[in-house]
Amino acid sequence: MKIIKEKDIKGDPLSGKTVAVVGYGSQGEAQALNLRDSGVSVVVGLRPDGRSRARAEAAGFEVAAVGEAVSAGDVVALLVPDGVMAALVESTVGPGMREGSALVLAHGYPLRFGGLEPPPGVDVVMVAPMGPGLRLRERFVAGLGLPASFSVERDATGNARATALEYARAIGCARVGLLETTATEETDIDLFAEQAVLCGGVTRLITAGFDTLVEAGYDPALAYIECLYELELTVGLIQRFGISGMRERISGTALFGDLTRGGRILGPDVRENMRAILSEIRDGTFAREMASDEEKGGRALRESLAREGERLIEKVGRELAGMVHEATDTETA
Ligand code: NAD
Ligand code: MG
Repeated sequence: MKIIKEKDIKGDPLSGKTVAVVGYGSQGEAQALNLRDSGVSVVVGLRPDGRSRARAEAAGFEVAAVGEAVSAGDVVALLVPDGVMAALVESTVGPGMREGSALVLAHGYPLRFGGLEPPPGVDVVMVAPMGPGLRLRERFVAGLGLPASFSVERDATGNARATALEYARAIGCARVGLLETTATEETDIDLFAEQAVLCGGVTRLITAGFDTLVEAGYDPALAYIECLYELELTVGLIQRFGISGMRERISGTALFGDLTRGGRILGPDVRENMRAILSEIRDGTFAREMASDEEKGGRALRESLAREGERLIEKVGRELAGMVHEATDTETA
């Protein structure tokens, strides 16, 4: 494992080049601002009726139609939702890109599963910041950065790797470190982590813990605070100090319970399920299932979201809004 930092990257970030940032959402806004602050010339490409247009203009960017921005760019950073990328590249971005320019993606998904076909003769690289745009911008402004993974998917000019590194540096990610990967590896790991651990796993763990306490007659509000709200404390310690470092900082009772009971909560069957979920990612089953639900207007997703929202834990969470959570819009209105 080699961690690449700023000192390992030669030359000025993208000196003399223009970056066309297509899309001004979470990543687009943050990356455009960071690029500009690093001295890179930026043009933002947006749909004429898009909602982000006013925000980009207010930030002082030159805003153009997607096709125009793309033809002005030596580097095109495609930061629109993954689901629309393939069609946008086919219709507008691909035909507009000059031979010898570079396409930068922030996630491997469109290449791995999204049917994205970059135009011939251009470099294709991925620079995937490990976190949302808001954090990428905040950390940059504070003189720090978010780590990123990067990859070279196609080297048409012989310069693709240098472009990826300069781009990563200009958005601040090389201040903390870059890891080289492939779009395939990045996508598989990203999907697996969100399904098994970060989103799918942790929500089920919280809910199961909460339900167990409530079924045994304990107070739902206290169960909610202990199983859900206090998770931030543990996760914060793990993030700062690692798992062992967290264990050094919790009470002796918590440590004894962790070490003697934790393995019984997530036993061998969980790992078996995780392996099955990973193979559904790798063989394309997950991507096909998601695409087919999207074709039907996202019905299965909406129904499942509605069912999850009716759980007791959600009701308790809403009652505690303002105390443990930020008040929701409906309550502040
Ligand atoms: P987003 O949904 O926040 O922003 C999308 C932007 O694209 C908006 O400005 C929207 O107006 C514009 N847009 C939508 N459809 C368009 C179209 N057809 N033509 C032109 N513009 C269009 O997207 P995001 O979350 O910033 O994601 C962008 C990329 O960054 C994706 O590849 C995503 O996987 C990746 N990424 C996102 C995050 C994250 O935390 N959000 C983190 C790492 C990587
Ligand atoms: Mg992710």
